[in-house]
Amino acid sequence: MKALVLTTGSVLGVLGGGQLGSMFTMAACRLGYHVAVWDPDPEAPAHRVATHSFPVPFTDQHILARFAELVSVVTYEWENIPAELCRALEQRKPVRPSSAVLSVIQDRLEQKGFLASNGFPVPPFAGLTDPDQLSTSIRQVGYPALCKTATAGYDGKGQWRIPRESDVREVERAILESARPGMRWIVESLVPFERELSILVVRGADGQSCTYPLAENEHDEGILRTTMVPAQGSSVVAEQAAVLARQVVDRLEGVGVFCLELFQLPGGELLINEIAPRPHNSGHYTLDACSVSQFEQQVRTTSGMPLGEVRLLSPAVMVNLIGDDAAILMKGEGCRTLLNIPGAVLHLYGKPAIRPRRKMGHVTFLGETLSLALGHAKQFRDGLANGPILSAWEPVRH
Ligand code: AMP
Repeated sequence: MKALVLTTGSVLGVLGGGQLGSMFTMAACRLGYHVAVWDPDPEAPAHRVATHSFPVPFTDQHILARFAELVSVVTYEWENIPAELCRALEQRKPVRPSSAVLSVIQDRLEQKGFLASNGFPVPPFAGLTDPDQLSTSIRQVGYPALCKTATAGYDGKGQWRIPRESDVREVERAILESARPGMRWIVESLVPFERELSILVVRGADGQSCTYPLAENEHDEGILRTTMVPAQGSSVVAEQAAVLARQVVDRLEGVGVFCLELFQLPGGELLINEIAPRPHNSGHYTLDACSVSQFEQQVRTTSGMPLGEVRLLSPAVMVNLIGDDAAILMKGEGCRTLLNIPGAVLHLYGKPAIRPRRKMGHVTFLGETLSLALGHAKQFRDGLANGPILSAWEPVRH
């Protein structure tokens, strides 16, 4: 890989301008860079903070030429951007992580195949090219199973649970209804995990890498709800996760920030659920709780600077603000109360409209101890669940 070190004032390009692109842009600006954001949605949050903004479709060839001319290097904020766009840009400027890495990751079947063929632990899986292959494919992995679209699924979208054989027909119909030509699916054994964990890996172009502490996640209907760090439990598991994560990203020859989502089985064994080739929602705590955030690491690895320190400065619990959570928070004294809590850091993404299941922001609760941070986060979540009661909220005392 060609060495690349940019000077401040260079323009970094980012494909995708959601909250991840926006946090990348802010981290880049802090280091003196300019950022060009390309996202078809004119209301995408990163356009607000970009130096150069391209709210045009990813298929626009004229903009492709202009964007490639303007930027020194390109990264992306999520894996569902067109791989052919990355390949075209890569002809002109370095793309990090590379389009080859993106192609492996953005298709669940390719990704699981890559992991399994390299001996990395994954849940049993099988592929299908037609919904009528569902029952045959599940026979290879067993019941209960989960069917996912091979591409373009996220936050639990494009997923169907199949608890037992008698559910196959109904799920087959549901899949058929949403099927489009050329689509493929993956079925996986629904594993009885004890905990969901994630770990961030940062890897530079020189092959040096480092991992953040292991984080423990809780999901609700497929969407990340909270992350707590450090994950509780055995340090052996944390060490295994770190080794596994570095091996996977080494094998991929990935340059950038990666996140491995893991299942911990009751015996302690770890299985890889998926890899994200970018900063991850479960790593947002790094903005407030670590010496260098995952977004600054993305800037550093993209621009060829040294990797940053990954030290956790404080235990942290991150709570996502999803859909109406943002409205509940803004009601009455909710926001004021939250901002008065020691260690509570609010991030709102500036999305113009609240929609169900849409990530509107997050709150990081920092605490001298994890239990203090957990106590604040729990009260906050209870407040969100029970309506506008945050004004009556009694903060945990130090
Ligand atoms: P994904 O979009 O693949 O990250 O899946 C979203 C969520 O669905 C995960 O965080 C898990 O809670 C659950 N899930 C996904 N795959 C499996 C699996 N093979 N077994 C059990 N739960 C799963």
